[in-house]
Amino acid sequence: ANPEQDFVLKTVESRDVHFVRFWFTDVLGNMKSFAVVPGELESAFEEGMGFDASCIEGFSAAQESDMLAFPDPSTFEILPWRPQANAVARMICDIRTPEGEPYAGDSRHVLERVVRRAAEDGYSFIVGPELEYFYFKDAEGTDVLDHGSYFDLTSLDSASDLRRDTVLTLEKMGIPVEYSHHEKGPSQHEIDLRYADALSMADAVMTYKQVVKEIAMKHGVYASFMPKPMADAPGNGMHVHQSLMDRSGNNVFFDPDDPSGYNLSATAKSYIAGLLKYAPEYTLVTNQYVNSYKRLQPGGEAPTCISWGARNRSTLVRIPGYRPNSESACRVELRSPDPAANPYLAFAVMLAAGLAGIEEGLELMPPADEAAPIGCTRYEHRARGIETLPESLGEAVERFAESKLMRETLGEHIHDYLVRTKREEWEAYQGIVTAWELERNLAVL
Ligand code: GLU
Ligand code: MG
Ligand code: MG
Repeated sequence: ANPEQDFVLKTVESRDVHFVRFWFTDVLGNMKSFAVVPGELESAFEEGMGFDASCIEGFSAAQESDMLAFPDPSTFEILPWRPQANAVARMICDIRTPEGEPYAGDSRHVLERVVRRAAEDGYSFIVGPELEYFYFKDAEGTDVLDHGSYFDLTSLDSASDLRRDTVLTLEKMGIPVEYSHHEKGPSQHEIDLRYADALSMADAVMTYKQVVKEIAMKHGVYASFMPKPMADAPGNGMHVHQSLMDRSGNNVFFDPDDPSGYNLSATAKSYIAGLLKYAPEYTLVTNQYVNSYKRLQPGGEAPTCISWGARNRSTLVRIPGYRPNSESACRVELRSPDPAANPYLAFAVMLAAGLAGIEEGLELMPPADEAAPIGCTRYEHRARGIETLPESLGEAVERFAESKLMRETLGEHIHDYLVRTKREEWEAYQGIVTAWELERNLAVL
């Protein structure tokens, strides 16, 4: 065994670990898990653990249902919310076929592939996501715990203990937190993870969502990452701050001599241009549910138009201005994704779009700070010549279906699966007659 595997085997013994959960993620971003007893670990490292993949979303057709999970020893952590005697640990897995090939439905592998391609060009991809969520009394409805708002620290913020417990648990699992605060909506919160390379971060996001939900449950409440659970409150975003680092650890987005005053290099500008150009094609991945499009409406702080700027929070890409002259703080923030996305696939498509922008040497349009005031309708944006994000899941899936970049980035298997599944979802939704329609129409038509 290699040293990392040895470390796991020794820790399992010394810390009284009786179950090791193998975690992996299905194509839609749901965490899947099965428990393995310590005696099986050594052979699991060597040969993988077999499981039946036929019931996993996006995994396989029935004729190829046997898959192998190979645990990544560097992801070994003891679960702090489980008893510490007869403890439970987890490792995140790569999925392989019985022939030993990386499995085409494994989204962790998709991200690995894009990250490797970036590395060949000399870049590493650094991301810092901001996941928002609500605490509700239970999963049956949207009864909130408090009526606090942005940065409130009063008795209104009855969830500060919950947040504190969550942050401490994340830190025990080796996931450093940068900020945590009450968000604008009632009972809405945000915990921001300290930036890291995209692959570790996607693992961390999966863990984060699990931890937020486990700790909520421990306190007898329910945490939800649903993009827009309440019509009259803001939705849940997953803004992703991103930058590229070169082989010597320099931030290639930073250029203090940028004549535009944004301190952005030519590479950064082409990267942003790629994020803008391909937005209609990747939005299905960053915003994958019918409900995601209820959040992407004008009037709030979620983007609708495909533009960029510094102050305007309704743009798709924002250049945060906290420390404008610091190389390490130089980054771009993509504001459309929501926390119900599969983080592996979401990071993969952002990086692919940005890299395509660099490869194509795309020119960046002028910033839209004044041109696109918050609250503009889609029609008004288009009248000013600014393109808009897909308006519905139905539109997003057709743009995605036609996209060569998405097919190449995600591979045929995942691309086909998402087109099929998301078309079905859209059709099912279109088949529903809503309370809204009855209320507006029944008495008059
Ligand atoms: N909740 C907003 C969204 O849906 C973002 C608020 C913020 O700027 O943090 O994206
Ligand atoms: Mg926020
Ligand atoms: Mg933000």
